[in-house]
Amino acid sequence: MRVAIYPGTFDPFTNGHLDIVMRSLRLFDSLIVAVANNPKKRPLFSVLERIELIKASLPKTGGVTVDSFDGLAVDYVRAKGGGVIIRGLRAVSDFEYELQMALINRRLNPEIDTIFKMPSEEYSFLTSTAVKEIASLGGCVEGLVPPAVVSALRSKFHT
Ligand code: ADP
Repeated sequence: MRVAIYPGTFDPFTNGHLDIVMRSLRLFDSLIVAVANNPKKRPLFSVLERIELIKASLPKTGGVTVDSFDGLAVDYVRAKGGGVIIRGLRAVSDFEYELQMALINRRLNPEIDTIFKMPSEEYSFLTSTAVKEIASLGGCVEGLVPPAVVSALRSKFHT
């Protein structure tokens, strides 16, 4: 059985990310959502917090595990015995960066391929950055992120 890996920052996990997870489960029996530990991005939530929020947001149907990784995504994928990286494509604006990443990753390991999934239109504008901005200003993020993330943002920003 081939394992697919969905790597990302997930700071925090949104309904757009969840949409990609659900679509990926239609293609793969086993999916690992892998939180990148990249302190350079100065995340709002720690890796452990992000993992817990993703776990609390996933359906209980199984097939998905949550993990974190340091270093190169291709090295992590290889270590997990996976052959596929899942990435989300929201709009044309994502394309250039994602194409570059996919080709670099292919160069680093030609046996690992990237599959792009498009989210439902209602999430095509949704970014973790926008969610943090709205929440920090006291705005409502319900419907944009899973309930556990709504609560976590409220406690982070004391709103
Ligand atoms: P990264 O820093 O790795 O881009 P993100 O958490 O921002 O981490 O995104 C992880 C992946 O999820 C990326 O492939 C990104 O394009 C995708 N993604 C982010 N937001 C959405 C969304 N609203 N709908 C679909 N895919 C998304």
